[in-house]
Amino acid sequence: MELTTKIIPDAFKKNIPQGMRLLWKQDIEVLLVESVYCPNGHNLLVDSVRIHDEPSIKLKIQVGGQEGLVFLDSIWGSHSNLFTFLGTGLSPDAKTEAYCPYCDAHLNVKRSCSNPACDSPDQIVLYLPGRKNEIQICPRVSCPHHELIIEEIEEPVLQELSDINYFGAGQEDVFGGI
Ligand SMILES: [Zn+2]
Ligand SMILES: [Zn+2]
Repeated sequence: MELTTKIIPDAFKKNIPQGMRLLWKQDIEVLLVESVYCPNGHNLLVDSVRIHDEPSIKLKIQVGGQEGLVFLDSIWGSHSNLFTFLGTGLSPDAKTEAYCPYCDAHLNVKRSCSNPACDSPDQIVLYLPGRKNEIQICPRVSCPHHELIIEEIEEPVLQELSDINYFGAGQEDVFGGI
């Protein structure tokens, strides 16, 4: 993991939402997703595939005519995702459709992307415990947008968090997001 020095805002650290926690990795404090759910309440974190020695987030996805599983890095802003298929040769305009691997619930929700350079009309939504708080990931291959929607935390703090991006091992990444 190549780390950039993006600091987690103090205002957030004082009020970490359920389903996330802080963790020290290689002398850097990172934010870890600990539990996220599909709309039917399946926990998407799996212990069987670990990335950076932490459980990963398992989703079923379809993109560019291919289908398979993705295991998302649960460190916020890190992109060391693993795929069960070759997500190569995708057009930047290609869009990912994400599903719960247990009940096939469609995780794309009609909601436009907050990245002004992106015109995606939908977002992949994962629910934090209690369902009021969400992680939103843009399904457009070329868009790096990911966002936390946390009721109790103010927008500017959330914006800082959305800007946190570490870079993965350099593989082509279907998910610019999480
Ligand atoms: Zn489900
Ligand atoms: Zn987008």
